[in-house]
Amino acid sequence: MEETLKILVVDDDEVDRISIRSALTKAGVQMELSEVGDGNDAFSALTTTAYHCVFLDYSLPDQDGLTLIQQLRSSEIKVPLIVLTGQGDEEITLQLLKAGATDYLSKSRISPETLSQVLRSAIRVYRAEMQADLANQQLRESHKQLICKNQELERQQQQIQMQKFKLLEASRLKSLFLATISHELRTPMNAIIGFSQILLRPKFGQLTHQQGDMIERILNNGKHLLMLLNEVLDFSKLEGGGLDLKAEIFDVSKVINLAVSEMRSLADAKNLSLLVQTDLQNPLVFNDPVRVKQILINLLSNAIKFTESGEIWVEVKELPANRVAIIVQDTGIGIAPRDFKHIFEAFRQVDQTITRKYPGTGLGLAIIDSLVRMMGGKIFLESKLGVGSMFKIELPHQITLPTVADDAPPLQLDGEEVFCSANKPHHSSSQARKAPIGYPKFKL
Ligand code: ADP
Repeated sequence: MEETLKILVVDDDEVDRISIRSALTKAGVQMELSEVGDGNDAFSALTTTAYHCVFLDYSLPDQDGLTLIQQLRSSEIKVPLIVLTGQGDEEITLQLLKAGATDYLSKSRISPETLSQVLRSAIRVYRAEMQADLANQQLRESHKQLICKNQELERQQQQIQMQKFKLLEASRLKSLFLATISHELRTPMNAIIGFSQILLRPKFGQLTHQQGDMIERILNNGKHLLMLLNEVLDFSKLEGGGLDLKAEIFDVSKVINLAVSEMRSLADAKNLSLLVQTDLQNPLVFNDPVRVKQILINLLSNAIKFTESGEIWVEVKELPANRVAIIVQDTGIGIAPRDFKHIFEAFRQVDQTITRKYPGTGLGLAIIDSLVRMMGGKIFLESKLGVGSMFKIELPHQITLPTVADDAPPLQLDGEEVFCSANKPHHSSSQARKAPIGYPKFKL
């Protein structure tokens, strides 16, 4: 069913009003028609009633059509307006359209067809305009909201940036504090160690058994504390980028044997066998011997610390692509796969409680990780709880200086390389004899 249109005719000439009404009726327009004779009445009718369309005579007795249109628009009254122009009014049609008229029609052209056609098209145009207006308004709203959200985001970004600066500064101060304190503590510690050693020499007088025992304890504890301080100092240097590798050509198997012989007494004290196998065609490498030894000492001291009974194997072997592997394997307590990633983070230990059984700073593996990265190498870990662990360090025969380690990405679990060796056991030739099988694997 066609909708009933509420139409207002504004014309002071009754004959014209009649002709409009009869033309619309003849055209079959379903309507409720109201008629007024001047601009004032038109304005008050339009402020009180919503019309579908207005036919407006341009020449009204109290004002012209243009003035009324401007008045309506400035009062935000929106309605399709068709201006009926007389002879000579045509020139101002452009002005009328600019002011807000929807369309115009010369009175001489009034007929049922033209009137109904212009009426329907004005209503269509008006509705399309309204929809466009609405869409525009919604667009402006979303634009405003976007601007607000953008401002909010910028504010948050600034806050994050501030927090980042604060964190960086806190971390810098922490590193500085660690470096200063460990450096300052080393001097008196060296004196304690030095004087204990002097006191233990017989030429400085005979000590009772008890005195000798006590001084030996001072010496051993001093050495242990110095080792911890050195770890902290190394770590703070590595963190601040202040540690350089001093590379030279050396025999890696000699350095390995030296490190093993230094650690042998600790293994013996726990009744652990410490086996070494070096299988290198070319034992000469270009690297920092002190740091290579430090890596092995750290791995060995962990292997000894976390193994209650059984064996520890050290193996050095040639790898393809001019690389060397240093492997330390134990029959200790093992590490759960969920801890693989964390134990390489500074100050992280599987047991973080203060009542933990095994002492340590939690820095050893973090230092190894940084050093191996600086050397352009990789660390692989295989371990199984209650069975044992295997740490494998792969290093190039010849490291590249200056280092690019600072640009290396942070420690990351490499999805491609991590796999469970329960399906794919991993044994080197010498490990095949005794190596615990079924370790989950991890590559750094
Ligand atoms: P620390 O030995 O001083 O605690 P590390 O960084 O050397 O610090 O090692 C971090 C943690 O990794 C250790 O606390 C331990 O939980 C685990 N871990 C390292 N090596 C072994 C190993 N061979 N067997 C079992 N757990 C180990």
